Amino acid sequence: MKDELRKKALSIRKNLPVEQYSSIIMHKLFSLPEYSKSKNILSYYPLKSEVNTLKCFEDKTKNWYLPRVINETLEFCPYESSNLKKGSFNIFEPCSSKIDDFSNIDMIIIPAVAADKNGYRLGYGKGFYDRFLYSLKSSPVKVILIFHDLLFETIYPEKHDIKGDIIITNKEIFRIIC
Ligand code: ADP
Ligand code: MG
Repeated sequence: MKDELRKKALSIRKNLPVEQYSSIIMHKLFSLPEYSKSKNILSYYPLKSEVNTLKCFEDKTKNWYLPRVINETLEFCPYESSNLKKGSFNIFEPCSSKIDDFSNIDMIIIPAVAADKNGYRLGYGKGFYDRFLYSLKSSPVKVILIFHDLLFETIYPEKHDIKGDIIITNKEIFRIIC
């Protein structure tokens, strides 16, 4: 079921006006009270057809962190524009040292292939974010960015899938209660 949905979502995504929708989504993110309150934020470097997050790194009032894939896990490192190189999956990754202490991270901005209104997200099928979020001892606000066209009734969540707290699309903001 998930595999079918992933394929469907990826084919829909190819035809979306990514830049236009991303700009709306990023404005919604910047307007959140949770965003104003956050100082240390884990984000991601976008693939061409993912929600484009690059605008966030211009907000110099925050400390930004980016993921890199090492074996089967995600590591997060401070964002430095001059210190990025293409890593696994051809995504730009930071070269700086990873952080081990996540206790002061206020928010995590999570990419998705699809999501549902219950707060569940579908990734690329490798469970990177599920494993990372499961391993976290702290509880930053989990924000999922997704195009409205990729919001489904259900993504057929499994036991290991971890919900987001807030879902932002180009049409709406959902706050997930438990
Ligand atoms: P995605 O979230 O990328 O869409 P899935 O939710 O299908 O992918 O997860 C892919 C695989 O990742 C699962 O089949 C599972 O084996 C593994 N996985 C997810 N979370 C955990 C976890 N907390 N511990 C161990 N394995 C996990
Ligand atoms: Mg999952």
